[in-house]
Amino acid sequence: MLNDQELLRYSRQILLQHVDIDGQLRLKESRVLIVGLGGLGSPVALYLAAAGIGELHLADFDTVDLTNLQRQIVHDTDSVGLSKVDSAIRRLTAINPQIQLIAHRTTLDEDSLAAAVMAVDLVLDCSDNFSTREAVNAACVAARKPLVSGAAIRLEGQLSVFDPRRPESPCYHCLYGHGSEAELTCSEAGVLGPLVGLVGSLQALEALKLLVGFGEPLVGRLLLIDALGTRFRELRVKRDPGCSVCGSSHA
Ligand SMILES: [Zn+2]
Repeated sequence: MLNDQELLRYSRQILLQHVDIDGQLRLKESRVLIVGLGGLGSPVALYLAAAGIGELHLADFDTVDLTNLQRQIVHDTDSVGLSKVDSAIRRLTAINPQIQLIAHRTTLDEDSLAAAVMAVDLVLDCSDNFSTREAVNAACVAARKPLVSGAAIRLEGQLSVFDPRRPESPCYHCLYGHGSEAELTCSEAGVLGPLVGLVGSLQALEALKLLVGFGEPLVGRLLLIDALGTRFRELRVKRDPGCSVCGSSHA
């Protein structure tokens, strides 16, 4: 049940008929894994903590660097040198002391990643490299957990939701598995803070929709954001029946 403090804290979203008390209880009972506490993971963690997700599992092996602070808004100047997980825990606890925060401070190998994914209801990929994205996707397909995937580089953003529980849903590998994209990270190519903030905010929004169960999730669709022209485009994306990751999981 929700106590008086929780009813007050979450009152503006409980007012929405799509959320209501039942939806808020669903959020309270939810466990979510955030992989990466950088530019995308910052708004994701802030909004999901504020929204009252019962358990947030935070994974990042890195420490806060001065060059992060232009976009990684969960961290602050006093956190430079601290582990990103501990820095985020400090800030998220200050925002909402009523949620549980679970820390993963080291690199997740295949087994620990599988266990971390199995322990939650939904995963947000907020990492910045292809190999992590592929590993997180494979773990989500194997555990049949929905994956909210976002990316931003230079002045372009991308967003999609992969949900192995839906037979028509592609996985990350269906889209990107053929190695079309050169591996670039923000540290090499540059990126603007509000753009990663936008993509991360949309990831948090999709997560809330999936957890509460309302609206139309971004499944089978790839949202492309062009910050230069301020344009949003959408591509239909299909499951690849020959995909080496999800190809047999729906059979
Ligand atoms: Zn696939």
